Amino acid sequence: MVNGESIILFGPPGAGKGTQSGLISTITGKPQVSTGDMLREAVSDNSEVGGEAKSYMDKGLLVPDKIIMELIKIRLSKDDAKNGLLFDGFPRTIPQAMALEKLTSVSMVVSLVVQDDEIVSRIAGRRTDPETGEIYHVEYKPAPQDIRSRLLQRDDDTEDTVRNRLSTFHKQTAPLSDFYRDKGILIEVDGSGDIEQVSSSIEAIIKRNSLG
Ligand code: ADP
Ligand code: ADP
Repeated sequence: MVNGESIILFGPPGAGKGTQSGLISTITGKPQVSTGDMLREAVSDNSEVGGEAKSYMDKGLLVPDKIIMELIKIRLSKDDAKNGLLFDGFPRTIPQAMALEKLTSVSMVVSLVVQDDEIVSRIAGRRTDPETGEIYHVEYKPAPQDIRSRLLQRDDDTEDTVRNRLSTFHKQTAPLSDFYRDKGILIEVDGSGDIEQVSSSIEAIIKRNSLG
């Protein structure tokens, strides 16, 4: 292994991974890596990878494993990855998880558990600040009045795409829970409370597990 131990933040689309990743990153000192953010950056740069990825993202389908693993290999080779990374939204398939095992060891998988109907309302109200990357929600986490006009809604946050993303999650990604449970490193967290409640649960769990 060339890298320190990594952590995975796991859960369905809209579970609150991006919202909670800053906290985990601060506690553990591991830089956050979101494959969704990397792909959106590739799309906005009009790169070849971005062009290919967009057709899958718009339909709510997973981008092919080969593309994702190329991005992850490059990210893991950077200097700040040597003590491990915090993966958000990766891995999403068993082949990705198996490929990751060859690149870094994973010490903990924090799985945010949220029911589908709650997911739909979270995603429908999600807004992002393009200047800071901060994630807001029209109802659950309203942005300050003075920046509301610059907030964006993601292209794939439409009702149809959300349903496809949820079905993709149940078919291709949910089996990863068993994969990591069998390894004894899966920690499930109730993600259905408000943002602060989920943060306190995560904080308690990480501290308990880091202290062994
Ligand atoms: P969300 O957490 O709301 O699902 P993400 O930003 O994690 O959103 O992902 C957006 C889209 O990017 C996904 O629907 C999928 O098309 C693609 N994507 C992100 N990460 C992966 C991955 N690890 N494997 C395959 N596709 C991915
Ligand atoms: P993910 O990264 O898993 O796709 P996000 O962190 O982007 O999810 O959260 C999806 C939406 O739900 C955002 O609008 C966010 O503000 C909101 N949200 C996140 N956590 C909660 C929570 N515990 N309760 C209510 N809304 C939440």
